[in-house]
Amino acid sequence: MSGLLDEVSTRFRSTTAIHLRNAWEIEKLRASNQVVVETLNLLREHIKPGTSTLRLDKMAEDNIRSKGALPAFKGYRGFPATICASINHQLVHGIPSKKKILKEGDIITIDCGAEMEGYFGDAAVTYAVGEIDQRRRLLLETTKQCLLEAIEKMRVGFRLYDLSATIQEIAEGAGFNVVREYTGHGIGAKMHEPPLIPNYGTAGMGPRLKAGMVFALEPMLIDGDFRVEVADDGWTVYPKDKSLTAHFEHTVVVTEGEPQVLSEGIIWD
Ligand code: MG
Ligand code: MG
Repeated sequence: MSGLLDEVSTRFRSTTAIHLRNAWEIEKLRASNQVVVETLNLLREHIKPGTSTLRLDKMAEDNIRSKGALPAFKGYRGFPATICASINHQLVHGIPSKKKILKEGDIITIDCGAEMEGYFGDAAVTYAVGEIDQRRRLLLETTKQCLLEAIEKMRVGFRLYDLSATIQEIAEGAGFNVVREYTGHGIGAKMHEPPLIPNYGTAGMGPRLKAGMVFALEPMLIDGDFRVEVADDGWTVYPKDKSLTAHFEHTVVVTEGEPQVLSEGIIWD
């Protein structure tokens, strides 16, 4: 799940410190993220024409609970499901439904969160349903590239908005836009912790990264204007111009050496 810029920044104002997690906490975070990874990889097998997003949601919830974890999104600010399932132009926070049936050529973002022993995992993938057209393929590949290049900068010596600037540069360089109102976020003993990590920004600005910082990086790209609105269901976010969108997310920890992807192992090709 992604942070909402206005609400989250208001909540974070009094607690702007970025947590530094110790080795024990990192292992807890890795464990909850690995539940998310297993869940996404399980759902991937069922991303095909004819599957309803409600069926995917049920499978996700059963899998998470079978690992002794909790679905972190369910009940979060009133969200009714285990996964966010957002099809084609839907950007984030789509509510699973038996009426939403996958079709050949669709793209669908599954965003999934799990909590285990008080620590959170959060990751998202945009999947192709069967064969997709070239434009959708480029959108997916570019969004992945934004995420991977941003992860490369999750190192001591970089600053927070180096990550944001990297995502924006790659997205815009390929002819896409980045969403403004929804952001990546710190993650740990809460699903959304400081800092907000916008998908746009100025390199060289923001707090210096330190070992132990854990971020959910989540580039959200739009093949059109970046202005978005929320559907009547109160959750589903989509661009006003209904253009296509994609969203990939990993939970990553800064170390003294290489960045460690706590949600590593997601199959997303
Ligand atoms: Mg998420
Ligand atoms: Mg998130």
